[in-house]
Amino acid sequence: MLRIDLAAVRESPVAVAERILPDAALPAESGLVLAAPLEVSGRLSAAGEDRFYWQARIETVVREECRRCLKPVDVPVAVSAGLMFAIEGVAAADDGDCYIVPRRATALDLAPAVREELLLAVPQYVECRADCRGLCPRCGADLNAGPCGCAPQVDPRWEALTKLARGD
Ligand SMILES: [Zn+2]
Ligand SMILES: [Zn+2]
Repeated sequence: MLRIDLAAVRESPVAVAERILPDAALPAESGLVLAAPLEVSGRLSAAGEDRFYWQARIETVVREECRRCLKPVDVPVAVSAGLMFAIEGVAAADDGDCYIVPRRATALDLAPAVREELLLAVPQYVECRADCRGLCPRCGADLNAGPCGCAPQVDPRWEALTKLARGD
């Protein structure tokens, strides 16, 4: 799907336009769950004999969890980036900013680059809303739905001071 014939790219720039359904888009071990199709587009061109340049556009919606209440939160992600690919063993491949293409490859697999760019673009922490109250640390109830009835949390350090003051 995301494999582009290198001979064609060497001849002339190739337009990339793929729409991949969430279930087929990423391997489970990528750690990303998609809530919308993965849209991959842009233009792939040769930059010399052993290098390729992809003016990439990657769009999807990633499903994450609210860091406070663990509710699913859908986060739209859009990446626009110029990505370099280099055939294995080419000097430019050693500078770290390139995706490596195996020496004997006849097609360029964009999938690893797509995965990597998505992982970089996805926010580390999301909240379902700015004032999410999260879960009660004692009973696990969703405090957005109202108070759970647990006694208010007392900081153990204060508890010790209170005991001192009371002379327990
Ligand atoms: Zn939340
Ligand atoms: Zn509670």
